[in-house]
This record gives sequence, structure tokens and C-alpha cells, in this order.
Amino acid sequence: MQQHKKITIAIDGFSSCGKSTLAKALAFELGYVFVDTGAMYRAVTLFCFRNGWVNKESVNQQAIIDHLNQIDIHFERNKDTSKLEIFLNNEVVEREIRTLEISSLVSKVASIKEVRQKLVIEQQKMGEKGGVVMDGRDIGSVVFPNAELKLFVTASPEVRTDRRFKELLVTEPGITREEIKQNLEERDHLDSTREESPLIQTEDAVVLDNSDINQQEQLELALELVRERMNG
Ligand code: C5P
Repeated sequence: MQQHKKITIAIDGFSSCGKSTLAKALAFELGYVFVDTGAMYRAVTLFCFRNGWVNKESVNQQAIIDHLNQIDIHFERNKDTSKLEIFLNNEVVEREIRTLEISSLVSKVASIKEVRQKLVIEQQKMGEKGGVVMDGRDIGSVVFPNAELKLFVTASPEVRTDRRFKELLVTEPGITREEIKQNLEERDHLDSTREESPLIQTEDAVVLDNSDINQQEQLELALELVRERMNG
């Protein structure tokens, strides 16, 4: 695609509806920076879990807030695989942050105002020059409210559960479909009802329902919108 001005693309939506897949493909196609903000919230959660500040029963909000300055998160491209990896205090935690255990705790940690403030500042820095595709829950509403293109990605609950199930079976063979379904429902509920920047569909967002289309078709639809915004 011919390069015009570098725009900011914000992708929001419920859990496991293919936001990161689309964001990654768009960034690759456009030569833009890709930022998976869910990975950042997951990395903070992993740090808190390892320190015993969050578990199924409780969250020690004060301990989390007090130790936020000890958490360093950044992304680096792996030289061998060319894949982007997330680092938590200089340790690659790409695999550790994707377990069902961390998935079941992340929305609690992500509801803490101070956690969000820290990560939003970092996300805004990563995208300050434009040419970024960022996916999450509050990108179009809070992180980049002036983004040139906002997409709200969605898919049916069955499709989302199936996708996550297939993904997690590889690393967690004992996992059940029901556990995944419950986790998605729980996270969607917490993410959209929390006080601090809940997941919302902003008025200016374009809805992309990918229940019945494949990744390539979804990418093409999104690229069409990108072209419009670049020229507009
Ligand atoms: O995108 P992913 O499913 O990996 O996000 C994990 C969790 O991180 C979400 O369920 C949500 O609680 C939190 N999150 C958030 N704001 C974002 C991105 C993710 O609250 N921008």
C-alpha cells in the first residue's frame, strides 16, 4: 500500500474476538508499530500474582499500588522468530501471561485506577508519533480518543470460546470449553462494568463482526477503512 500520512488505529472489543490478530496483521501490512495492551495488563497481573497480591479470593490493591514503580514492561522483537515478545523486568513472559490462571485474575488488576494510569501513559508514549495499531479495551475511548480510525471488533460468544479453546489446548491440555466460556463471560462483565475506563463502543467506532468471515477478509475490510482515513 502506498504510504500517506501515518495514522493511529485504535482497536477495542470483548475478549478473544481476534483484536490482536487483526492489529498485528494491519501493523505488518502498513509497517506500523503494533501494541497489544492486554499483554501489558497481563504482565502486571503476573507480577502481582507471583508476589501474592492477587489470587482467586482476594486482591491487595494497596500492595499493588505501592509496588507499581518496580514494574518495567516493554516489547522487543525476537531475532530468531521475528515475533514481538513482552518483557516483565527483563524476563520474557509471553507464555506465562496467557495461562487461564492469569486470564482469571487480570480483570481485577486492570480495574485498579493507578494500574491503568501507569499503563495508559506508557501506551500514549508508544503511539505519540502515530503509525501505530493498538488493541485493548479503552484505546479509542481513553488512550487515543483522537485516533483517525477506531474499530470495535466483535464475534459471537460461541466463535470466541472456540477460538480461545483451540489456542489454549496446546499449552494447557486439560482445559475444558466450559472453563474458557466462563472466563470470557466473567472478564467481559468485569471489563464493561468497572468504574475506571470501562470497555465501551465509542460513537465514532466502526463495528467489525468477524463471526462469519476469515482473517484475510477481516484484514481487507480494515485496510479499506484505513485507505479512506489516510486520504481523508
Ligand atoms: O486483550 P486481552 O484479552 O489479552 O486482555 C486481558 C485483560 O486485560 C482484559 O480482560 C482486560 O481486563 C484488561 N485490559 C484492559 N484494558 C486494555 C487491555 C486489556 O483493561 N486496554
